[in-house]
Amino acid sequence: MTDRTKKLAEFDRNFIWHPFTQMKEYENQEPIIIEEGEGVYLIDTEGRRYIDGVSSLWVTIHGHRVPEIDRAIKEQVEKIGHSTLLGITNTAASELAKELIEICPKGLTKVFYSGDGASAVEVALKMAFQYWQHRGKPKKTKFVSLENGYHGDTLGAVSVGGIDLFHAVYKPLLFETYKAPSYYCYRCPLRKTYPSCEIACAREVEKILEEHHEEIAAVIFEPYVQAAGGMIVSPPGYIKRVRGYCDKYDVIMILDEVATGFGRTGRMFACEHENITPDIMVLGKGMTGGYLPLSATVVTQEIYNAFLGEYDEFKTFFHGHSYSGNPISCAAALGNLEVFRKNSTLERLQEKIEFLEREIQEFKGLEHVGDVRNKGLMVGIELVEDRETKTPYPLNMKMGWRVAGFAMQKEVLIRPLGNVVVLMPPIGIEIKDLKKLIDVTYRAIKKATEDL
Ligand SMILES: *Cc1c(COP(=O)(O)O)cnc(C)c1O
Repeated sequence: MTDRTKKLAEFDRNFIWHPFTQMKEYENQEPIIIEEGEGVYLIDTEGRRYIDGVSSLWVTIHGHRVPEIDRAIKEQVEKIGHSTLLGITNTAASELAKELIEICPKGLTKVFYSGDGASAVEVALKMAFQYWQHRGKPKKTKFVSLENGYHGDTLGAVSVGGIDLFHAVYKPLLFETYKAPSYYCYRCPLRKTYPSCEIACAREVEKILEEHHEEIAAVIFEPYVQAAGGMIVSPPGYIKRVRGYCDKYDVIMILDEVATGFGRTGRMFACEHENITPDIMVLGKGMTGGYLPLSATVVTQEIYNAFLGEYDEFKTFFHGHSYSGNPISCAAALGNLEVFRKNSTLERLQEKIEFLEREIQEFKGLEHVGDVRNKGLMVGIELVEDRETKTPYPLNMKMGWRVAGFAMQKEVLIRPLGNVVVLMPPIGIEIKDLKKLIDVTYRAIKKATEDL
């Protein structure tokens, strides 16, 4: 290890508190210190090249060092770094909003910018709540969300979250929500089987609305994939069904596309698979191609219109962030969309998805693989101690991390969710790198589960 790496590791250990990380454990390991990126590779200070198997926590879209995005940022920096969006605007934010509305599902017409996914979710919740106040239905104040859902780590986002491991400790700080079951086919909470179940989990959402719609402002969930919940993939038809119930009971539908947006599931947005438009759509993560923080809450004209009024009616949406619509972030996002067009990213993606779906069938042959699921290039491989009974490995065995550890030795970086091994490479990945990622993961699972 070079002296420089040692020094940087020491600074890190001494001064950084890492997110979602047990620091006691972290302090006893040698950290990987990333210095550069190239395509789907991350390069550390020792010159090792790792495949970025989870898109640097689900943000990188085409890869690292994408010329168009690099250039867009450089050109913007030479003009201005930041100016506010409170009451005035800037060139990049304005251009990006137009381009976003062009690619969003038909009917979404206005973009509200924030900095990260959680903030954009807060915005969606506050807008939905306030919308009904303005519409003269002040009793509609509650939210319906799903078990295993994840919407970020601020308190509003945690309130509509459903992952006990992350959320239980904060319970006294949260507002109450109605929880519908997760669309988790492998461990169906209703003990049914698709397709004979006729998507009974969607019907559970309807039951809540039937009974409580007069006090419900909105339903919020992740379309097609509950990502942080363990890459849980919904049965086809679920989103459309819930859209129907929201219409029937006059409730706002919020879709959180922070993880699924920008091509991850094979279409630009996951809700396109079912041809529906939510009333509010939340975007984040991949929006800048994985370069800079930027998020958006995109809404219909109807929601926007409910906030229009005379100054002293106080119908203003009283919410904003210092860096809302930051021009450098918006320039990166414009670069990201330019690459989608120029490289025909979505068209070329279909072949990669087909390849991946063929290859991951192999995993089913491994004794401790209980379920293999994917939508597009979002993949979850659920490990179990016993396949017959679907008994999970005890969490303290850290089986997911054992797999990630073996993969790291082969220069593949992945980050599991409990017993679920997650693959979510940049959608710009080439087939040969995708093959390496899958092969290394296969061998790592075999090794981690067999050499006990
Ligand atoms: C990551 C994520 C968020 C939160 O985004 P941050 O930028 O980390 O705040 C919200 N919703 C979903 C579905 C996510 O995957």
